[in-house]
Amino acid sequence: MNRFVVVGAGPAGLSLALQLARAGHPVALVEASRQFSRQFRGDALMPCGQEALARMGLSDLVEGLPQRPLAGWSVWVNRHKLFAVPEPMGSLQPCRLVPQQLLLEALLAKALQEPLLQWHPGQAVKRLQRNGARICGVELANAGRLEADLVVGCDGRQSLVRREAGVQLQQRGRGLEVLWFELPGPLPGNLDGGFSTHLSAGAVGSSCIGARGELQLAWLLKNGGPTPRRTPQAWGDAWAQLLPSPVANLVRERAGELQGPLRVSVPVGLAERWHQPGLLLLGDAAHPMSPVRAQGINMALRDSLVAASLLSQAEPEELDRAAAAVEQQRLPEIQRMQSLQSAEALQGQLVGHTPLLRALLAQGRVLLGPWAQRVWQARQTPLREGLAGALPAAELAPQRTNSISW
Ligand SMILES: Cc1cc2nc3c(=O)[nH]c(=O)nc-3n(C[C@H](O)[C@H](O)[C@H](O)COP(=O)(O)OP(=O)(O)OC[C@H]3O[C@@H](n4cnc5c(N)ncnc54)[C@H](O)[C@@H]3O)c2cc1C
Repeated sequence: MNRFVVVGAGPAGLSLALQLARAGHPVALVEASRQFSRQFRGDALMPCGQEALARMGLSDLVEGLPQRPLAGWSVWVNRHKLFAVPEPMGSLQPCRLVPQQLLLEALLAKALQEPLLQWHPGQAVKRLQRNGARICGVELANAGRLEADLVVGCDGRQSLVRREAGVQLQQRGRGLEVLWFELPGPLPGNLDGGFSTHLSAGAVGSSCIGARGELQLAWLLKNGGPTPRRTPQAWGDAWAQLLPSPVANLVRERAGELQGPLRVSVPVGLAERWHQPGLLLLGDAAHPMSPVRAQGINMALRDSLVAASLLSQAEPEELDRAAAAVEQQRLPEIQRMQSLQSAEALQGQLVGHTPLLRALLAQGRVLLGPWAQRVWQARQTPLREGLAGALPAAELAPQRTNSISW
Protein backbone atom coordinates (compact mmCIF):
# COMPACT_ATOMS: atom_id res chain seq x y z
CA MET A 1 0.00 0.00 0.00
CA ASN A 2 1.13 3.55 -0.70
CA ARG A 3 1.68 5.86 2.17
CA PHE A 4 0.26 8.64 -0.03
CA VAL A 5 -1.92 8.96 -3.14
CA VAL A 6 -1.63 12.45 -4.61
CA VAL A 7 -4.43 13.36 -7.04
CA GLY A 8 -3.49 15.96 -9.66
CA ALA A 9 -0.08 16.89 -11.06
CA GLY A 10 -0.33 20.67 -11.05
CA PRO A 11 2.17 22.75 -9.09
CA ALA A 12 0.76 21.54 -5.73
CA GLY A 13 0.59 17.83 -6.52
CA LEU A 14 3.81 17.44 -8.47
CA SER A 15 5.96 19.32 -6.00
CA LEU A 16 4.36 17.49 -3.07
CA ALA A 17 4.80 14.03 -4.59
CA LEU A 18 8.44 14.83 -5.38
CA GLN A 19 9.19 15.95 -1.82
CA LEU A 20 7.39 13.01 -0.19
CA ALA A 21 9.12 10.45 -2.41
CA ARG A 22 12.46 12.09 -1.73
CA ALA A 23 11.75 11.90 1.99
CA GLY A 24 11.43 8.11 1.64
CA HIS A 25 7.66 7.57 1.33
CA PRO A 26 5.88 5.50 -1.32
CA VAL A 27 3.71 7.89 -3.34
CA ALA A 28 1.31 7.32 -6.22
CA LEU A 29 0.74 10.46 -8.31
CA VAL A 30 -2.40 10.35 -10.45
CA GLU A 31 -3.06 12.86 -13.23
CA ALA A 32 -6.12 12.98 -15.47
CA SER A 33 -4.28 14.49 -18.42
CA ARG A 34 -1.42 13.02 -20.47
CA GLN A 35 0.35 16.29 -21.14
CA PHE A 36 0.88 19.65 -19.49
CA SER A 37 0.32 21.86 -22.52
CA ARG A 38 -2.88 23.45 -21.27
CA GLN A 39 -3.57 27.15 -21.40
CA PHE A 40 -4.74 29.30 -18.50
CA ARG A 41 -2.44 28.02 -15.86
CA GLY A 42 -0.42 31.19 -15.55
CA ASP A 43 3.30 31.70 -15.79
CA ALA A 44 4.05 34.22 -13.04
CA LEU A 45 6.24 33.08 -10.18
CA MET A 46 6.25 35.63 -7.39
CA PRO A 47 9.18 35.88 -4.97
CA CYS A 48 7.11 33.88 -2.45
CA GLY A 49 6.70 31.00 -4.94
CA GLN A 50 10.38 31.17 -5.85
CA GLU A 51 11.19 30.99 -2.14
CA ALA A 52 9.13 27.80 -1.80
CA LEU A 53 10.91 26.21 -4.78
CA ALA A 54 14.29 27.25 -3.39
CA ARG A 55 13.46 25.66 -0.06
CA MET A 56 12.53 22.46 -1.89
CA GLY A 57 16.06 22.50 -3.30
CA LEU A 58 14.75 23.22 -6.80
CA SER A 59 16.54 26.48 -7.59
CA ASP A 60 18.71 24.81 -10.24
CA LEU A 61 15.65 23.38 -11.91
CA VAL A 62 13.98 26.81 -12.19
CA GLU A 63 17.20 28.48 -13.33
CA GLY A 64 17.53 25.96 -16.15
CA LEU A 65 14.15 26.82 -17.68
CA PRO A 66 13.49 29.49 -20.32
CA GLN A 67 12.06 32.51 -18.54
CA ARG A 68 12.04 36.24 -18.35
CA PRO A 69 11.72 38.66 -15.48
CA LEU A 70 8.57 40.76 -15.49
CA ALA A 71 9.48 44.40 -16.16
CA GLY A 72 6.87 45.90 -13.86
CA TRP A 73 3.20 46.64 -13.27
CA SER A 74 1.04 49.47 -14.59
CA VAL A 75 -2.55 50.66 -14.38
CA TRP A 76 -4.20 52.51 -17.26
CA VAL A 77 -7.45 54.48 -17.10
CA ASN A 78 -9.20 55.57 -20.29
CA ARG A 79 -5.96 54.57 -22.06
CA HIS A 80 -3.87 56.99 -19.98
CA LYS A 81 -1.18 55.68 -17.68
CA LEU A 82 -2.28 56.23 -14.06
CA PHE A 83 0.94 54.81 -12.64
CA ALA A 84 3.69 52.28 -13.37
CA VAL A 85 5.95 50.50 -10.89
CA PRO A 86 9.10 48.66 -12.02
CA GLU A 87 10.03 45.26 -10.63
CA PRO A 88 11.37 44.03 -8.21
CA MET A 89 9.59 46.57 -5.98
CA GLY A 90 11.98 46.17 -3.07
CA SER A 91 12.07 42.36 -3.18
CA LEU A 92 15.25 40.32 -3.54
CA GLN A 93 13.88 38.69 -6.69
CA PRO A 94 11.68 40.02 -9.48
CA CYS A 95 8.50 38.27 -10.45
CA ARG A 96 9.56 35.75 -13.13
CA LEU A 97 7.55 34.45 -16.04
CA VAL A 98 8.31 30.75 -16.44
CA PRO A 99 6.19 28.67 -18.85
CA GLN A 100 4.16 26.52 -16.48
CA GLN A 101 4.18 23.61 -18.89
CA LEU A 102 7.99 23.53 -18.79
CA LEU A 103 8.07 23.93 -15.02
CA LEU A 104 5.69 20.99 -14.59
CA GLU A 105 7.59 18.85 -17.09
CA ALA A 106 10.85 19.56 -15.28
CA LEU A 107 9.29 18.73 -11.89
CA LEU A 108 7.95 15.49 -13.35
CA ALA A 109 11.35 14.52 -14.78
CA LYS A 110 12.84 15.06 -11.32
CA ALA A 111 10.04 13.12 -9.62
CA LEU A 112 10.45 10.17 -12.00
CA GLN A 113 14.01 9.76 -10.74
CA GLU A 114 12.60 8.83 -7.34
CA PRO A 115 12.17 5.04 -7.08
CA LEU A 116 9.34 5.42 -4.53
CA LEU A 117 7.16 7.44 -6.89
CA GLN A 118 4.59 5.72 -9.11
CA TRP A 119 3.30 7.89 -11.94
CA HIS A 120 -0.22 7.33 -13.29
CA PRO A 121 -0.73 9.74 -16.22
CA GLY A 122 -3.98 9.92 -18.18
CA GLN A 123 -5.92 8.44 -15.26
CA ALA A 124 -8.73 10.52 -13.80
CA VAL A 125 -9.77 9.69 -10.28
CA LYS A 126 -13.49 8.85 -10.39
CA ARG A 127 -14.31 8.37 -6.73
CA LEU A 128 -12.88 8.05 -3.27
CA GLN A 129 -12.77 4.74 -1.48
CA ARG A 130 -13.77 4.49 2.14
CA ASN A 131 -13.25 2.09 4.97
CA GLY A 132 -16.02 3.16 7.35
CA ALA A 133 -15.63 6.89 7.92
CA ARG A 134 -12.03 6.83 6.72
CA ILE A 135 -10.96 7.61 3.15
CA CYS A 136 -8.52 4.86 2.25
CA GLY A 137 -7.84 5.26 -1.47
CA VAL A 138 -9.14 6.22 -4.90
CA GLU A 139 -10.81 4.51 -7.81
CA LEU A 140 -9.50 5.41 -11.26
CA ALA A 141 -11.32 5.84 -14.57
CA ASN A 142 -9.97 2.44 -15.69
CA ALA A 143 -11.54 0.90 -12.56
CA GLY A 144 -8.08 0.41 -11.01
CA ARG A 145 -7.77 1.16 -7.31
CA LEU A 146 -5.00 2.71 -5.29
CA GLU A 147 -4.94 2.38 -1.53
CA ALA A 148 -3.20 4.83 0.76
CA ASP A 149 -2.77 5.94 4.35
CA LEU A 150 -3.57 9.46 3.14
CA VAL A 151 -5.12 10.75 -0.09
CA VAL A 152 -4.04 14.28 -0.97
CA GLY A 153 -6.43 16.09 -3.33
CA CYS A 154 -4.44 18.52 -5.48
CA ASP A 155 -6.91 18.39 -8.35
CA GLY A 156 -7.50 22.08 -8.84
CA ARG A 157 -10.35 24.52 -8.52
CA GLN A 158 -13.12 22.13 -9.68
CA SER A 159 -11.72 19.37 -7.42
CA LEU A 160 -13.59 16.09 -7.72
CA VAL A 161 -11.87 14.90 -4.55
CA ARG A 162 -13.33 17.84 -2.63
CA ARG A 163 -16.81 17.22 -4.02
CA GLU A 164 -16.60 13.45 -3.43
CA ALA A 165 -15.59 14.09 0.17
CA GLY A 166 -18.67 16.31 0.57
CA VAL A 167 -16.57 19.34 1.51
CA GLN A 168 -18.34 22.62 0.74
CA LEU A 169 -16.59 25.59 -0.79
CA GLN A 170 -17.25 28.88 0.93
CA GLN A 171 -17.32 31.73 -1.54
CA ARG A 172 -14.62 34.34 -0.99
CA GLY A 173 -15.58 37.28 -3.11
CA ARG A 174 -17.10 37.06 -6.52
CA GLY A 175 -15.73 34.49 -8.91
CA LEU A 176 -14.42 35.74 -12.22
CA GLU A 177 -15.42 35.03 -15.78
CA VAL A 178 -12.48 35.80 -18.04
CA LEU A 179 -12.15 35.75 -21.81
CA TRP A 180 -8.60 34.80 -22.70
CA PHE A 181 -6.87 35.77 -25.96
CA GLU A 182 -3.36 35.25 -27.22
CA LEU A 183 -1.48 36.91 -30.03
CA PRO A 184 1.46 34.70 -30.97
CA GLY A 185 4.98 36.16 -31.02
CA PRO A 186 7.29 37.47 -32.21
CA LEU A 187 6.07 40.88 -31.06
CA PRO A 188 7.63 44.26 -31.83
CA GLY A 189 10.27 45.43 -29.36
CA ASN A 190 8.45 48.66 -28.43
CA LEU A 191 5.82 46.97 -26.24
CA ASP A 192 5.73 47.31 -22.47
CA GLY A 193 7.33 44.21 -20.90
CA GLY A 194 5.22 44.44 -17.75
CA PHE A 195 1.77 43.42 -16.64
CA SER A 196 -0.81 46.12 -17.38
CA THR A 197 -4.35 46.52 -16.07
CA HIS A 198 -6.70 48.49 -18.34
CA LEU A 199 -9.87 50.24 -17.21
CA SER A 200 -11.65 51.95 -20.04
CA ALA A 201 -14.92 52.29 -21.94
CA GLY A 202 -16.79 50.23 -19.34
CA ALA A 203 -14.42 47.30 -19.74
CA VAL A 204 -11.70 45.81 -17.55
CA GLY A 205 -8.82 43.84 -19.00
CA SER A 206 -5.14 43.08 -18.74
CA SER A 207 -2.21 42.60 -21.08
CA CYS A 208 1.14 40.96 -20.58
CA ILE A 209 3.84 39.49 -22.76
CA GLY A 210 3.99 35.85 -21.67
CA ALA A 211 7.04 33.73 -20.99
CA ARG A 212 7.03 32.37 -24.57
CA GLY A 213 6.95 35.87 -26.10
CA GLU A 214 3.22 35.84 -26.89
CA LEU A 215 0.81 38.64 -25.98
CA GLN A 216 -1.69 37.44 -23.37
CA LEU A 217 -4.93 39.40 -23.10
CA ALA A 218 -7.60 38.83 -20.46
CA TRP A 219 -11.00 40.48 -20.79
CA LEU A 220 -13.13 40.44 -17.64
CA LEU A 221 -16.82 39.79 -18.24
CA LYS A 222 -18.98 42.07 -16.14
CA ASN A 223 -21.27 40.03 -13.83
CA GLY A 224 -20.34 36.90 -15.74
CA GLY A 225 -22.65 37.76 -18.67
CA PRO A 226 -22.66 35.81 -21.93
CA THR A 227 -19.61 35.79 -24.18
CA PRO A 228 -20.11 38.58 -26.75
CA ARG A 229 -20.36 37.21 -30.30
CA ARG A 230 -17.80 39.16 -32.32
CA THR A 231 -15.68 38.52 -35.36
CA PRO A 232 -11.88 38.50 -34.80
CA GLN A 233 -11.71 42.00 -36.32
CA ALA A 234 -14.49 43.23 -34.02
CA TRP A 235 -12.55 41.81 -31.06
CA GLY A 236 -9.41 43.54 -32.31
CA ASP A 237 -11.36 46.82 -32.45
CA ALA A 238 -12.84 46.26 -28.98
CA TRP A 239 -9.35 45.62 -27.57
CA ALA A 240 -8.07 48.73 -29.30
CA GLN A 241 -10.70 50.78 -27.38
CA LEU A 242 -9.31 49.43 -24.12
CA LEU A 243 -5.55 49.31 -24.76
CA PRO A 244 -3.16 52.23 -25.22
CA SER A 245 -0.94 52.50 -28.27
CA PRO A 246 1.28 50.90 -29.46
CA VAL A 247 -0.29 47.65 -28.28
CA ALA A 248 -3.77 48.79 -29.41
CA ASN A 249 -2.52 49.28 -32.99
CA LEU A 250 -0.81 45.91 -32.96
CA VAL A 251 -3.93 44.06 -31.80
CA ARG A 252 -6.12 45.86 -34.33
CA GLU A 253 -3.69 45.19 -37.20
CA ARG A 254 -3.19 41.53 -36.31
CA ALA A 255 -6.78 40.87 -35.16
CA GLY A 256 -7.05 37.95 -37.59
CA GLU A 257 -4.26 36.15 -35.68
CA LEU A 258 -5.90 36.56 -32.27
CA GLN A 259 -6.45 33.18 -30.63
CA GLY A 260 -9.60 33.12 -28.50
CA PRO A 261 -11.78 34.10 -26.86
CA LEU A 262 -11.59 31.17 -24.55
CA ARG A 263 -13.84 31.54 -21.57
CA VAL A 264 -12.38 30.64 -18.18
CA SER A 265 -14.63 30.45 -15.12
CA VAL A 266 -12.71 30.99 -11.94
CA PRO A 267 -14.50 30.33 -8.67
CA VAL A 268 -12.80 31.94 -5.70
CA GLY A 269 -13.31 30.23 -2.38
CA LEU A 270 -12.12 28.38 0.63
CA ALA A 271 -12.97 24.78 1.53
CA GLU A 272 -14.84 24.73 4.84
CA ARG A 273 -12.29 22.12 5.96
CA TRP A 274 -9.13 20.93 4.22
CA HIS A 275 -8.98 17.53 5.87
CA GLN A 276 -11.05 14.48 6.82
CA PRO A 277 -9.87 11.15 8.18
CA GLY A 278 -7.55 9.86 5.44
CA LEU A 279 -7.77 13.03 3.30
CA LEU A 280 -6.05 16.37 2.83
CA LEU A 281 -6.88 19.05 0.22
CA LEU A 282 -4.18 21.39 -1.06
CA GLY A 283 -3.72 24.18 -3.61
CA ASP A 284 -6.76 25.27 -5.59
CA ALA A 285 -8.65 22.17 -4.39
CA ALA A 286 -8.60 23.67 -0.89
CA HIS A 287 -8.73 27.35 -1.85
CA PRO A 288 -9.36 28.24 -5.52
CA MET A 289 -7.44 31.47 -6.02
CA SER A 290 -8.41 34.40 -8.18
CA PRO A 291 -5.96 35.07 -11.05
CA VAL A 292 -5.63 38.65 -9.73
CA ARG A 293 -1.95 39.36 -9.00
CA ALA A 294 -0.88 35.81 -9.82
CA GLN A 295 -1.16 34.00 -6.51
CA GLY A 296 -2.39 30.48 -7.31
CA ILE A 297 0.83 28.71 -8.32
CA ASN A 298 2.72 30.45 -5.58
CA MET A 299 0.25 29.51 -2.85
CA ALA A 300 0.07 25.95 -4.20
CA LEU A 301 3.86 25.62 -3.92
CA ARG A 302 3.86 27.07 -0.41
CA ASP A 303 1.08 24.66 0.63
CA SER A 304 3.11 21.77 -0.70
CA LEU A 305 6.26 22.83 1.13
CA VAL A 306 4.44 22.99 4.46
CA ALA A 307 2.51 19.76 3.81
CA ALA A 308 5.65 17.83 2.85
CA SER A 309 7.39 18.96 6.00
CA LEU A 310 4.53 17.98 8.33
CA LEU A 311 3.40 14.80 6.57
CA SER A 312 6.83 13.32 6.02
CA GLN A 313 7.62 13.48 9.74
CA ALA A 314 4.35 11.82 10.79
CA GLU A 315 3.90 8.13 11.58
CA PRO A 316 0.91 6.55 9.76
CA GLU A 317 -1.32 6.92 12.81
CA GLU A 318 -0.38 10.60 13.09
CA LEU A 319 -1.25 11.55 9.50
CA ASP A 320 -4.70 12.95 10.28
CA ARG A 321 -3.25 15.20 12.93
CA ALA A 322 -0.52 16.30 10.54
CA ALA A 323 -3.16 17.05 7.87
CA ALA A 324 -5.05 19.23 10.36
CA ALA A 325 -1.80 21.02 11.20
CA VAL A 326 -1.23 21.76 7.50
CA GLU A 327 -4.57 23.56 7.30
CA GLN A 328 -3.89 25.41 10.52
CA GLN A 329 -0.50 26.58 9.32
CA ARG A 330 -1.57 27.58 5.82
CA LEU A 331 -4.95 29.17 6.52
CA PRO A 332 -3.82 32.64 7.69
CA GLU A 333 -1.75 33.26 4.56
CA ILE A 334 -4.48 32.01 2.21
CA GLN A 335 -7.16 34.12 3.89
CA ARG A 336 -4.95 37.20 3.72
CA MET A 337 -4.06 36.71 0.05
CA GLN A 338 -7.66 36.10 -0.94
CA SER A 339 -8.73 39.27 0.90
CA LEU A 340 -6.05 41.30 -0.86
CA GLN A 341 -7.01 39.83 -4.23
CA SER A 342 -10.64 40.60 -3.57
CA ALA A 343 -9.87 44.22 -2.61
CA GLU A 344 -7.84 44.63 -5.79
CA ALA A 345 -10.58 43.10 -7.97
CA LEU A 346 -13.31 45.25 -6.40
CA GLN A 347 -11.29 48.42 -6.87
CA GLY A 348 -10.66 47.56 -10.53
CA GLN A 349 -14.32 46.84 -11.17
CA LEU A 350 -15.43 50.03 -9.43
CA VAL A 351 -13.13 52.20 -11.53
CA GLY A 352 -13.68 50.19 -14.70
CA HIS A 353 -17.46 50.46 -14.55
CA THR A 354 -17.87 54.02 -13.18
CA PRO A 355 -17.37 56.50 -16.04
CA LEU A 356 -17.20 59.57 -13.75
CA LEU A 357 -14.53 58.06 -11.55
CA ARG A 358 -12.54 56.99 -14.59
CA ALA A 359 -12.77 60.45 -16.12
CA LEU A 360 -11.65 62.01 -12.83
CA LEU A 361 -8.68 59.68 -12.47
CA ALA A 362 -7.68 60.08 -16.12
CA GLN A 363 -7.86 63.86 -16.07
CA GLY A 364 -6.29 64.25 -12.64
CA ARG A 365 -3.68 61.53 -13.16
CA VAL A 366 -0.70 63.80 -12.52
CA LEU A 367 -1.93 64.47 -8.98
CA LEU A 368 -3.99 61.34 -8.36
CA GLY A 369 -1.57 58.86 -9.94
CA PRO A 370 0.99 58.93 -7.10
CA TRP A 371 -1.81 58.59 -4.53
CA ALA A 372 -3.38 55.64 -6.40
CA GLN A 373 0.07 54.08 -6.66
CA ARG A 374 0.60 54.32 -2.88
CA VAL A 375 -2.79 52.67 -2.20
CA TRP A 376 -2.02 49.92 -4.72
CA GLN A 377 1.54 49.37 -3.60
CA ALA A 378 0.56 48.94 0.05
CA ARG A 379 -1.06 45.63 -0.94
CA GLN A 380 1.80 44.36 -3.04
CA THR A 381 4.40 43.40 -0.44
CA PRO A 382 2.36 40.52 1.05
CA LEU A 383 1.07 39.54 -2.40
CA ARG A 384 4.67 39.19 -3.57
CA GLU A 385 6.45 37.96 -0.45
CA GLY A 386 3.69 36.04 1.33
CA LEU A 387 2.98 36.45 5.02
CA ALA A 388 6.01 36.69 7.28
CA GLY A 389 6.49 33.44 9.19
CA ALA A 390 4.08 31.46 6.99
CA LEU A 391 6.73 28.90 6.02
CA PRO A 392 8.70 26.61 8.32
CA ALA A 393 12.07 28.01 9.28
CA ALA A 394 14.08 24.88 8.45
CA GLU A 395 15.06 23.91 4.92
CA LEU A 396 13.76 20.55 3.75
CA ALA A 397 16.47 19.76 1.27
CA PRO A 398 20.01 20.99 0.76
CA GLN A 399 20.33 23.68 -1.85
CA ARG A 400 22.93 23.30 -4.54
CA THR A 401 22.83 26.79 -5.97
CA ASN A 402 23.03 30.32 -4.79
CA SER A 403 21.12 31.69 -7.74
CA ILE A 404 17.92 32.02 -5.72
CA SER A 405 18.87 32.23 -2.09
CA TRP A 406 16.71 32.93 0.90
C1 LIG B 1 -6.43 32.81 -16.44
C2 LIG B 1 -5.61 32.43 -15.26
C3 LIG B 1 -4.32 32.90 -15.14
C4 LIG B 1 -3.57 32.57 -14.01
N1 LIG B 1 -2.30 33.07 -13.88
C5 LIG B 1 -1.57 32.76 -12.79
C6 LIG B 1 -0.23 33.24 -12.65
O1 LIG B 1 0.31 33.91 -13.52
N2 LIG B 1 0.44 32.91 -11.50
C7 LIG B 1 -0.13 32.18 -10.53
O2 LIG B 1 0.51 31.95 -9.48
N3 LIG B 1 -1.37 31.67 -10.65
C8 LIG B 1 -2.10 31.94 -11.77
N4 LIG B 1 -3.35 31.42 -11.90
C9 LIG B 1 -3.86 30.48 -10.88
C10 LIG B 1 -3.16 29.13 -11.03
O3 LIG B 1 -3.23 28.66 -12.35
C11 LIG B 1 -3.76 28.09 -10.08
O4 LIG B 1 -4.10 28.68 -8.85
C12 LIG B 1 -2.74 26.95 -9.85
O5 LIG B 1 -2.49 26.28 -11.06
C13 LIG B 1 -3.25 25.96 -8.80
O6 LIG B 1 -2.36 24.85 -8.74
P1 LIG B 1 -2.88 23.43 -8.26
O7 LIG B 1 -1.72 22.50 -8.35
O8 LIG B 1 -3.59 23.57 -6.97
O9 LIG B 1 -4.02 23.03 -9.31
P2 LIG B 1 -3.98 22.90 -10.97
O10 LIG B 1 -2.82 23.64 -11.46
O11 LIG B 1 -5.33 23.26 -11.37
O12 LIG B 1 -3.69 21.37 -11.14
C14 LIG B 1 -4.69 20.40 -10.89
C15 LIG B 1 -4.34 19.14 -11.68
O13 LIG B 1 -5.26 18.12 -11.31
C16 LIG B 1 -5.64 17.40 -12.46
N5 LIG B 1 -6.94 16.79 -12.17
C17 LIG B 1 -8.14 17.41 -12.10
N6 LIG B 1 -9.10 16.50 -11.80
C18 LIG B 1 -8.49 15.31 -11.70
C19 LIG B 1 -8.96 14.00 -11.41
N7 LIG B 1 -10.25 13.73 -11.18
N8 LIG B 1 -8.07 12.98 -11.39
C20 LIG B 1 -6.74 13.21 -11.63
N9 LIG B 1 -6.26 14.44 -11.92
C21 LIG B 1 -7.12 15.47 -11.93
C22 LIG B 1 -5.70 18.46 -13.56
O14 LIG B 1 -5.58 17.88 -14.83
C23 LIG B 1 -4.49 19.33 -13.18
O15 LIG B 1 -3.31 18.89 -13.82
C24 LIG B 1 -4.11 31.75 -13.02
C25 LIG B 1 -5.40 31.24 -13.16
C26 LIG B 1 -6.14 31.58 -14.27
C27 LIG B 1 -7.54 31.04 -14.40
